[in-house]
Amino acid sequence: MIGGPYEGLIATKPMPEKINESLHCEEGKSSLKEWKGVRLCKKIKNQLVEYNSLPSYLRDNEYILGYYRSEWPLKHTILSVFSIHNETLNVWTHLIGFFLFLFLTIYTAMKAPTVVDFNSLQHLPKMIGTADLNKIRLHLLNCLPSLPNMPDLLNFKNELSTSLYSLDFSSLPSWNVVELLTNCLPEQLSINVVKDDMVDILSPSAVQPITRWPFFVFLGGAMFCLLASSTCHLLACHSQSLSYIMLRFDYAGISALIATSFYPPVYYSFMCNPFFCFLYLGFITLIGTATIAFSLLPFFQKPWFRKYRASLFFLMGFSGVVPIIHKLILHKDRPEALQTTGYEILMGILYGLGAVIYATRIPERWMPGKFDIAGHSHQLFHVLVVAGAYTHYQDGLVYLKWRDMKGC
Ligand SMILES: [Zn+2]
Repeated sequence: MIGGPYEGLIATKPMPEKINESLHCEEGKSSLKEWKGVRLCKKIKNQLVEYNSLPSYLRDNEYILGYYRSEWPLKHTILSVFSIHNETLNVWTHLIGFFLFLFLTIYTAMKAPTVVDFNSLQHLPKMIGTADLNKIRLHLLNCLPSLPNMPDLLNFKNELSTSLYSLDFSSLPSWNVVELLTNCLPEQLSINVVKDDMVDILSPSAVQPITRWPFFVFLGGAMFCLLASSTCHLLACHSQSLSYIMLRFDYAGISALIATSFYPPVYYSFMCNPFFCFLYLGFITLIGTATIAFSLLPFFQKPWFRKYRASLFFLMGFSGVVPIIHKLILHKDRPEALQTTGYEILMGILYGLGAVIYATRIPERWMPGKFDIAGHSHQLFHVLVVAGAYTHYQDGLVYLKWRDMKGC
């Protein structure tokens, strides 16, 4: 039996056929009695039910005993995003994750350094003629002591004090140089044009942003997965046909997330070795597409296939070990190779733990009915997926900074 604060909302038994037949759930009834009947009918239709009352296609986890929505009208199913049932947290964990990644995508697109406009260098003689270089040098020297006492910045200062022309920015991370100049100069110089010119003059040797498309492919995959999952959890209970469509979307989303997660590490690790770059990216694209196609087959969604399904996703992700080891061998002298591997191991742990919890249905199998609303395995799995994807986002940022600075 279901207890707690939602007890009154739950139909503990399926509606007897006789009662259902006596209620004509049609609009446009004129008499008060019939109008009341319609309201009662709607109320009963939208009650939460127990596992035993579910049609077979909605029976997925026998350890979650109650708070099920079953074949509600579409409008009420959509509006149930704002009510409490056993899918509420499944919907919201990935909906919040979707908005997080939408924000990260916009933020990353805006944060990326602008590509240097080499045409501006044509005006270099004119700019040098009009800019007071001595004034700029003095302002920079006044501005810099307030910054952290880093060895790179000390070099920067020393070089500034001799000449602006002989500056070597290659030892400084490119983003820092641009940030340094843009943060430092506005307050000190009254002519904004001079500031922009300075950034343009000084940055060509430092800012050579690498292409972002592999990073955005991953962000797109993550957003698709999170939104597909959230929508699936919200709508799958409406009808058998919608449930099949939604579950396919959900599995396709997971496959897309895993496959697109390979893009940033593989591309930025092997961008100077096109053969391996295409080999690894080709492999995961092929496997990802095959898994999406495979997930469209009906048996893929059967409850008995749960462990195989989890194993398939697990193996797909685990195949990432090969390019990671290859990267470590190829870039053994780069600290970024080690740093990114650390993030990738953490991501693997988070996803792996999520897959184990998903397949074993822990903790609800130990106390059936106690985790119906909050704390059951699927919710934990969702949180671990968002955490894993966010770890991968941080991993991607390390790659971008590395390649922006060093190129190929
Ligand atoms: Zn899910």
